[in-house]
Amino acid sequence: MNRYAKDFPILDQNVNGHPLVYLDSAATSQKPFAVIDAVERYYKENNSNVHRGVHTLGSRATDQYEGAREKVRRFIGASSTKEIVYTRGTTTSLNLVASSYARSRLQAGDEIVISPSEHHSNLIPWQQAAKATGATLKYFELEPDGTLDLKKAEAVITDRTKLVAIAYVSNSLGTIFPVKELAAIVHRHGGVLVVDGAQAVPHFKVDVQDLDCDFLAFSGHKMMAPTGIGVLYGKESLLEQMEPMEFGGEMIDHVDLYESTWKELPWKFEGGTPIIAGAIGLGAAIDYLEQVGMDVVEAYDRDLTRYALERLSTLEGVEIYGPRENRVGSVLFNVDGVHPHDVATVLDAEGIAVRAGHHCCQPLMRWLEVSATARASFYLYNDEADVDRLVAGLQKTKEYFGNVLG
Ligand code: PMP
Repeated sequence: MNRYAKDFPILDQNVNGHPLVYLDSAATSQKPFAVIDAVERYYKENNSNVHRGVHTLGSRATDQYEGAREKVRRFIGASSTKEIVYTRGTTTSLNLVASSYARSRLQAGDEIVISPSEHHSNLIPWQQAAKATGATLKYFELEPDGTLDLKKAEAVITDRTKLVAIAYVSNSLGTIFPVKELAAIVHRHGGVLVVDGAQAVPHFKVDVQDLDCDFLAFSGHKMMAPTGIGVLYGKESLLEQMEPMEFGGEMIDHVDLYESTWKELPWKFEGGTPIIAGAIGLGAAIDYLEQVGMDVVEAYDRDLTRYALERLSTLEGVEIYGPRENRVGSVLFNVDGVHPHDVATVLDAEGIAVRAGHHCCQPLMRWLEVSATARASFYLYNDEADVDRLVAGLQKTKEYFGNVLG
């Protein structure tokens, strides 16, 4: 266990008779005491609805909920809290852009460009928006190692391109895509860039003003916060023009029998009682990550990913997908002749949690010409000993299936 692991109570347990090695943080991260305590304290001491209570608990809850929004703003370098919309997660954030921005602006002849490596959450909303508006959905071509050649990407983006959506970090290949460069290209053609930050924001400093992206979506649960809270960052000028996706309490200014008006940003997008405890937990997660320092988190996660790639490459019969350089957070692989579900099952018996399947990237699996893969993903609380346990577990898997198959 490294020095951070002791902050994560869940890691201190045996699974199937072995100390737990959790290598599935790309699916969801574990939570430190600081986050669990913040949520518990909220429910024990301050639980109340926000924004409308005149009483003390109501103001405490509102202060904490809005205080967390300010932490998010600072964390991603946005210029105003008006640009920070709380959502349920990356999926909801991306759907909000697809519904409220893309569907009302796009028409036949317009183009949306995405990558074949996208998570379904950053693919299907654009597929649906293209179908609904008559716009054309186009794909970047990836290099064989899963990276993007900017020259080729530039050739796909034209004056017809109204929107480009891409993950900053692929949840499967681990590729870090050049979103800052893409933003400049897209803007030259008058389009907007939507960044899926689900696997980036947890691992390194993402500054929306430096990137100059138009939208950024991410999930709290992948960055040590509770499930059920996420963020959509959008440039104020764009959010201002967008219609809410959900209508009801909390998001209105004035309601008449036949007409209503909306609150100002960001609240017009937060209909209904919001995710109060989740937002407070997100604020606590940001405090924790900032205390460690995002530069430390990044260096640590990159080094560990590099170490895992090195160690797994030494294993005969293990195929690794994605680039060897410039990746963070996860390693996607297959063991020759063994179905990834069997790999994950043998590892689980050793107390090692990895993911197996299509990782919500079916088109990418077809591009890789596999039906599924295994994925080990890392975060601050993992260390080289965890990777060594994974390697030993894979050796055992190979021996076991070698015997069975042989
Ligand atoms: N995009 C990427 C790159 C992801 O890794 C994920 C989560 N696996 C999502 C989108 C969807 O996030 P959520 O399920 O939290 O909405």
